[in-house]
Amino acid sequence: MTDMILLKEGEVVLKGLNKRSFEQKLTSNIRRRLKRFGPFTVTANQSVIYVEPQSPDCDVDGAFQALGQVFGVMTVTRAAACEKDPAAIARRAAEYLHDELAAARTFKVESRRGDKAFPMTSVQLSQYVGGELDDAFPDLVADMHHPELTVHLEVRDRAAYIHGTPVPGAGGLPVGTSGSAVSLLSGGIDSPVSTWMMAKRGVRILPVHFFSFPYTSELAKQKVLDLARLLVPWCGRMTVQVVPFTHIQEEIRDRCPEDYGTLIMRRMMMRLASAIAADNHCGAIVTGESLGQVASQTMEAMAATEDCADVPVLRPLVGMDKKEVIAVARHIGTFDTSILPYEDCCTVFTPRHPCTHPKLAKVREAEKNLDVEPLIAEALAGVEFVKIGY
Ligand code: ATP
Ligand code: MG
Repeated sequence: MTDMILLKEGEVVLKGLNKRSFEQKLTSNIRRRLKRFGPFTVTANQSVIYVEPQSPDCDVDGAFQALGQVFGVMTVTRAAACEKDPAAIARRAAEYLHDELAAARTFKVESRRGDKAFPMTSVQLSQYVGGELDDAFPDLVADMHHPELTVHLEVRDRAAYIHGTPVPGAGGLPVGTSGSAVSLLSGGIDSPVSTWMMAKRGVRILPVHFFSFPYTSELAKQKVLDLARLLVPWCGRMTVQVVPFTHIQEEIRDRCPEDYGTLIMRRMMMRLASAIAADNHCGAIVTGESLGQVASQTMEAMAATEDCADVPVLRPLVGMDKKEVIAVARHIGTFDTSILPYEDCCTVFTPRHPCTHPKLAKVREAEKNLDVEPLIAEALAGVEFVKIGY
């Protein structure tokens, strides 16, 4: 017999009439995620999702870890399997939860019966196992109202299960329930975090990277693909679109005033991202911008940039300090890759005196020598698609 995993649905439960579609999205995300760990059944019942291995070869440890990265799950609990016999259940509970039972002063047992042919009712089973545990742990007192420890039992078709302590899940909403967005992914610390934060709110992510070869190297591109790979366990499978950006940057350098260079470059990014969003039914563009972090992230600069976006620009890091962003980057596992020392296209042609409080009219004026439409079309025609799987 193999352990199973119980997931408690997160915010999904608040969604009222939409609950069913949220739950379906969540269970299909879970099924897709579990494929490589062996055959499991996934069933939802009263905001609990039961993940049961269908073969002794299933990798339950791997599955347990992977499910901790699925958005829409509030807690992940491992449950020990045991034979469907009351005495065996009591023995297994005493053994499996030994440390917690020894540490608690008060407890209660709660049972659920999926298998209606089981000879005891849920109440009888709880009372029986409660009695046995009371005997086995003399310091433990039953308390039905405010127990320190609740021992959960589940009698299912294949086996009975005893729950261990829940660990926090990834939280958020199931990916795919909030629509899709283009996420601008550089090789820095910020954009993997902003991408993750929007995926956490249920957004399916289409990563876009602007690549300025040979000013930035193959290694810089590889770093971005590596970051995308680290995000896949959270975001699901993704196809990174690598947009050739060199010609645009050279044209900006040669035809536009230097102090507006960065802003014009960012306006071109927004135009390209908007075109990709339109082609892929994406409702927004996500960036890793944070207010005041650099010259191009003042309110005026953001306004000048946004001017070229056809869909809302979501900036989940806007109010975060670098320190807070780094803490998230470490938590999600992207930090060590982000700090590898490869250049980004933004740093290649950085103006000496970037304009921090640009006037929109002036930015538009500064850009007028640029052949915007042909440059956009040329870049879009050269996009490279890189599929990233688990
Ligand atoms: P990051 O740490 O994410 O690189 P940053 O603090 O270096 O961000 P900028 O370089 O000004 O800030 O970029 C702001 C945002 O613009 C990034 O977070 C990212 O969303 C997007 N961006 C910047 N460069 C690129 C690029 N080469 N490809 C795709 N998106 C980019
Ligand atoms: Mg950057």
